[in-house]
Amino acid sequence: MNKVTRDHVFFAFEPSLEPVLQVIQGEEILLETHDCFQGQLKSESDLIDALDWDHVNPATGPVFIEGVKPGDVIKIDLLEVKVAPRSTMVTVPGEGVLGDLITEMETAILAYDGEKVTFKNKVEIPARPMIGVIGVAPASGKVPNGTPGPHGGNMDCTQIGQGASIYFTAGVEGGLFGCGDMHAVMGDGEIVVCGAETPGEVRLKARVVPMKGLPTPFLETKDMVAVIHSSPTADEAASEATHRMAQFLTDFVKIPLNDAGMLMSLVGELKFCQVVDPEKTIRFEFPKYVLEKYGFRMPE
Ligand code: CA
Ligand code: ZN
Repeated sequence: MNKVTRDHVFFAFEPSLEPVLQVIQGEEILLETHDCFQGQLKSESDLIDALDWDHVNPATGPVFIEGVKPGDVIKIDLLEVKVAPRSTMVTVPGEGVLGDLITEMETAILAYDGEKVTFKNKVEIPARPMIGVIGVAPASGKVPNGTPGPHGGNMDCTQIGQGASIYFTAGVEGGLFGCGDMHAVMGDGEIVVCGAETPGEVRLKARVVPMKGLPTPFLETKDMVAVIHSSPTADEAASEATHRMAQFLTDFVKIPLNDAGMLMSLVGELKFCQVVDPEKTIRFEFPKYVLEKYGFRMPE
């Protein structure tokens, strides 16, 4: 299997990135990722003020997917998502939702035994490995990996894990896909600006699907689909994610607008991904069983 090691990273999604691997559609690949600090915090005595900020949020890649043209919708199946036995958390005065209260920098190392993450030898938390930064190059401009947007990026969505598929609209030929910033576990919101930050590896495959116009980034899990949207404020992101899910339900699933609205009000779930990055990310989840009642299935 084609593999990209964590020595091949980039720090901003942009059209001029040089691909480190070229794959054919449907081919399985393995990407090794760094944690969001690129391994700079090695122990609890390494504090965040010593960090080299030019080396945060590395993404592994980019991968050039053959045959992908701008405007194509790329489906990425996350076949396996594995994280390291150790993860790192920090508090940063002034940062995150509690930045006004937090005055002490702290670094905590958390162990992961394959099932649970242990917090300060006191609390065992069921792990839920996920990918924080994942995306494709935008058609123009340069988006630092710490910022989410229409191309993906630092969405920090807890549902982007093993078994999920994520859809992006290609901005450039080949897509130029990359990912990094895995978390062994994280809560919706990511309120102190980090989850259990960890290196990891992901096995995936990518291909173009005939769904041009899909509101992307778009997520699919076993039971639901979700539109993910990032905006400068959570209010705007919530409104956009909701409007874009309505667009999906009317345009793709062919549910009349009033029915789509009522169903979204009954069984839709509007949830925070993160509220601490330069843009806030919100997702609108909708259950697949309802799509099936309307005779709609996502592409295999
Ligand atoms: Ca992140
Ligand atoms: Zn992270």
